[in-house]
Amino acid sequence: MTTARKIALVTGASRGIGLAIAKQLAQDGFDIWLNYRSNHAAAEKAKQSIEQLGATCTLVPFDVADGKAVQEALNPLLAKQTPFALINNAGIRKDNLLIFMQDNEWHDVLSTILGGFYHVTRTVLAAMIRARQGRIVNIASSAAHAPVPGQTNYSAAKAGIVGATRSLAAEVAKRNILVNAVSPGFIETEMLDGLPIDKILPLIPLNRLGKPEEVAGLVSFLCSEKASYITGQAFQVNGGICM
Ligand code: NDP
Repeated sequence: MTTARKIALVTGASRGIGLAIAKQLAQDGFDIWLNYRSNHAAAEKAKQSIEQLGATCTLVPFDVADGKAVQEALNPLLAKQTPFALINNAGIRKDNLLIFMQDNEWHDVLSTILGGFYHVTRTVLAAMIRARQGRIVNIASSAAHAPVPGQTNYSAAKAGIVGATRSLAAEVAKRNILVNAVSPGFIETEMLDGLPIDKILPLIPLNRLGKPEEVAGLVSFLCSEKASYITGQAFQVNGGICM
């Protein structure tokens, strides 16, 4: 008898940390619903790399900030299957000192990170509650826990994610749904393009950038049976930059 594989929905998974998470979860035995926004070529390549690991991969492109698009893309899938795991990973940064910040820099970051968490989680949650099981992992950031000049928008959004993680964890614990946050430090992805890495490295006790796979390892654990008594927590994966 074959047991059906569980499904994991990973947002922003066409590259970077999201892709590493999707690949690790595929290795752990999950089939993947892979969300991204616009880079179709990267998503197709990601799909192939996941299928090579023996999992199925369903591409679900939508902008997490657009509530209607989220529902239109996910509801047809949710009518047939319910993900066991939801990884809210999609995020952007648009750094500026607050004194110079433009309205779009504030709103785009908040609506992608916080709005994205709200739209996707709200859409998936009813099915998870009916299934009486689930894991939600929200990718936050060190910026939620420590000051980063030039990132008031990003820090506000990521600290909001940590707060939302705790409150949602309390709301759904009785339904056997566990909700945690993972806060990466500086991880080698395209998101770091343009940052002065030579100035950042001396601030990191481990003296190197993190790899996406090092974040994925913790997410994998939080989605496993071994993490069955952990909820409402925020874990940092940051080489010690914030202790
Ligand atoms: P990348 O910029 O490398 O990748 C971003 C991914 O998110 C892409 O797949 C992109 O898809 C997708 N995406 C962006 N906006 C949207 C949207 N509105 N809707 C759907 N998908 C979207 O980012 P990282 O891998 O570096 O970051 C992943 C997460 O980790 C983010 O939440 C980030 O804030 C967080 N993080 C990253 C750190 C780092 O050092 N890299 C540090 C701390 C936190 P497409 O290409 O199609 O637009």
